[in-house]
Amino acid sequence: MTEPTPLDREQLQPIAVSLGQRATAGNQSSPPSFTDCPTCGARPAALDISISDDTIVIRFLRCGHVVTADRAEFYELCRAAFQPPDKEGP
Ligand SMILES: [Zn+2]
Repeated sequence: MTEPTPLDREQLQPIAVSLGQRATAGNQSSPPSFTDCPTCGARPAALDISISDDTIVIRFLRCGHVVTADRAEFYELCRAAFQPPDKEGP
């Protein structure tokens, strides 16, 4: 059993970005891959994300490492990451 690793904002951002890219990739046949596990560097097959109180718990499936992050911070990063890349013109 591995202890969960708390992530800081800098480590959390690429995870939020990869989730955003996958969410906005639509029905592409090969969606962008997830960010590598910050603990062991393995490319995850899937992420299992759960929320407990003010903490987000992310399990990297395959290697099984678990990381935690502040919920408000994760939401904030995801909100930014989920914006479509093309900006509105004036
Ligand atoms: Zn790992």
